[in-house]
Amino acid sequence: MTRFQTTAVHAGREDFGKLCVHAPPLDLSTTYPIADLDTGSASFDALIGGAADAANPIYARLHNPTVARAENGIAALEGSEACVAYGSGMAALTALLMDRAQHGKHVLVVRPLYGTSDHLLESGICGMQAEFITDAGQIAAHLRPDTALVIIETPSNPTLNLIDIRAAVAAAGKVPVAVDSTFATPVLQRPIALGAAYVWHSATKFLGGHGDVIAGVVCCSEERAHPLRTMRAATGALLHPLAAYLLHRGLPTLKLRVEAAQANAQVLAQRLAEHPAVAKVHYPGLADAPNAHLVGTQMSGPGSLLSFDMRGGHEAAAKVMSRVKVMTSAVSLGSVDTLIQHPAGLTHRMVPDDVKLATGITPGLLRMSAGLEDVEDLWDDLAQAMA
Ligand SMILES: *Cc1c(COP(=O)(O)O)cnc(C)c1O
Repeated sequence: MTRFQTTAVHAGREDFGKLCVHAPPLDLSTTYPIADLDTGSASFDALIGGAADAANPIYARLHNPTVARAENGIAALEGSEACVAYGSGMAALTALLMDRAQHGKHVLVVRPLYGTSDHLLESGICGMQAEFITDAGQIAAHLRPDTALVIIETPSNPTLNLIDIRAAVAAAGKVPVAVDSTFATPVLQRPIALGAAYVWHSATKFLGGHGDVIAGVVCCSEERAHPLRTMRAATGALLHPLAAYLLHRGLPTLKLRVEAAQANAQVLAQRLAEHPAVAKVHYPGLADAPNAHLVGTQMSGPGSLLSFDMRGGHEAAAKVMSRVKVMTSAVSLGSVDTLIQHPAGLTHRMVPDDVKLATGITPGLLRMSAGLEDVEDLWDDLAQAMA
């Protein structure tokens, strides 16, 4: 097993020598020639049964080599046996819920989390009854005999709360824990090694990394991946090979991007904390952040997302969004450029108002995803927007 950065450059590229290629072949086939019926039938059985690979891909809803290479690359970085890719992060969560619904109807969720995840869970999809708690220390007390899954997001969106993954896994006992690790990426945190059964990502964010691909992944054991692949082949929630190609292309630079953006975020968070227009900064890299001890232990660094509460409330926050010139006022995160947005008005709009307030999603809160620009240009931009 090579070290992280070497793996990032080479994983999912193991067959290049045999194929005599240097860049991943983009295979857009929807169907595959079957030379021998017995081999075809056996491959069909294997893929429908959830195998990662077979002698013949048969049909692109069952298997695609370009998608499989991106999956292998991500699994290698997460330290998981398997990775199953979907057309978006939300499709990945939906697939996970459809799978777990066969084991029980109760899903325990620690808030806050990504607004649309919250909304999907609240909707009762697949007959799942989501129970929301805001203190991960309460997981054990809320387990039921029919609890099929515990969902945590760390760092959480948008307030950057950190949850101790090992403690959550211990509290959940036999119930599998799924971690939305989108904000951390495998560069900063690898939940499988801490006992999580599933790690899922909106690969739209850091993994793709360039703001040009919507994708989602679930990383888990090979055994847990089988029913997910079977379900994906049946429901068709695929990742398109062109998207998988772009996703795979993002991996070699993942660590460099995450660390450079993190260095910018650390500077911006410190300066924002001293700015008179700012009431509070949420950033795991600040000494007074809750669970800051998990930075350096569970996480190798605090990451590049931060949020801050403008003293002037909604009006002041809206003004900053409309005045920035270098940063982009837009939802999403983990791209090469700095993105700033208003959670209460945009990404967390669907979260009930009382839950917003209880979880720190205030009218003055802005969330920023630091990008790769020169940090002094970012600070100049923010300072003029806040003036
Ligand atoms: C964006 C995001 C999602 C949803 O992913 P999509 O790719 O947009 O479907 C889920 N969780 C987190 C933390 C996100 O930032």
